[in-house]
Amino acid sequence: MDLIVLMPFYNEEKQIPVTVNRMIPLLDALDLRYSLLLVNDGSSDGTWKAIEDASDRHYGKVRGISLSRNFGKEAAICAGLDVADADAVILMDGDLQHPPECIPEMIRLWREEGYEIVEGVKSDRGREGVFSRLQAKLFYSMFRRMSGYDLSNASDYKLLDRKVVLKWRTLGEHNTFFRGLSAWLGFRRVSFPFEVAERQTGRSRWKISSLLRLSVHAIVSFSAIPLHLISFIGAIFLIGTLILLIQTLVNYFSGGAADGFTTVIIVTLAIGACVMISLGLIGTYVALIFDEVKNRPRYIISEDTGVARDGDTESQTAKKES
Ligand code: UDP
Ligand code: MG
Repeated sequence: MDLIVLMPFYNEEKQIPVTVNRMIPLLDALDLRYSLLLVNDGSSDGTWKAIEDASDRHYGKVRGISLSRNFGKEAAICAGLDVADADAVILMDGDLQHPPECIPEMIRLWREEGYEIVEGVKSDRGREGVFSRLQAKLFYSMFRRMSGYDLSNASDYKLLDRKVVLKWRTLGEHNTFFRGLSAWLGFRRVSFPFEVAERQTGRSRWKISSLLRLSVHAIVSFSAIPLHLISFIGAIFLIGTLILLIQTLVNYFSGGAADGFTTVIIVTLAIGACVMISLGLIGTYVALIFDEVKNRPRYIISEDTGVARDGDTESQTAKKES
């Protein structure tokens, strides 16, 4: 296989036929051996049925795998990359917000110019709420400061050479952050700009809580700076302590030591808050370490429509049609 286009889907039953009908003619025109790999991320609607239908209709061109529950987009990506056996894998959103028209150019950059990672950068984030724009901005600036990787306007729309996919599979962590890890992997890379398209059916499948969790995981797994920040806050408190110590002693020896109750309350509350926040921070790291130590699989595949094997395409198609 030359190319596999990998797409995760969560509750997108209406979107599947739209996506497949748009992708197949586009990929047919490219004159290479390809297949679509559609990952059902434990949808609760008819997404898996729609994927099975698509794989029956386009036997050999569409393969579906289904996860046993909703593991999240990151895990769905991992599942796809683990089963994808091709010279290149293109990862894109199943809702076609990553315009498929960019694929020929991605292939050209990979084939003719020898790039091993071709990544899409959002030149325009499309129609997006103020809150999610702000959240993205805040997250990326924090991530850049703490990890040193500038991912602003990065996306999951990427082409990965087989070499990169094989290296990706050796990464051992269970809580993955695809964008960050693909930057970490290195390789010869090039980026191209694209405009985020409108969603044709449904709405964004991300809940604010899952986005927040992914942001925390991403920062915690790429940086220990938050932990060092605790020492920094401690140092600031130490300086404050020294100043107050001198003032308290001066007051004591000059006979006016009874005052200062307000200061005591404020200092106690401030220290309490800092200690709690620091514990929470450490707890976040411990929880993530615990998650990794348990060593559970990243996802569980419960169903697979299978790959077409050489020679059985015609007969299988005939069987499916009858
Ligand atoms: N998705 C997924 N699992 C999830 C959430 C989303 O596989 O738990 C898929 C979703 O079906 C879509 C892609 O990831 O194909 C991008 O999701 P979405 O469009 O909701 O995100 P946004 O475009 O708002 O970033
Ligand atoms: Mg989308």
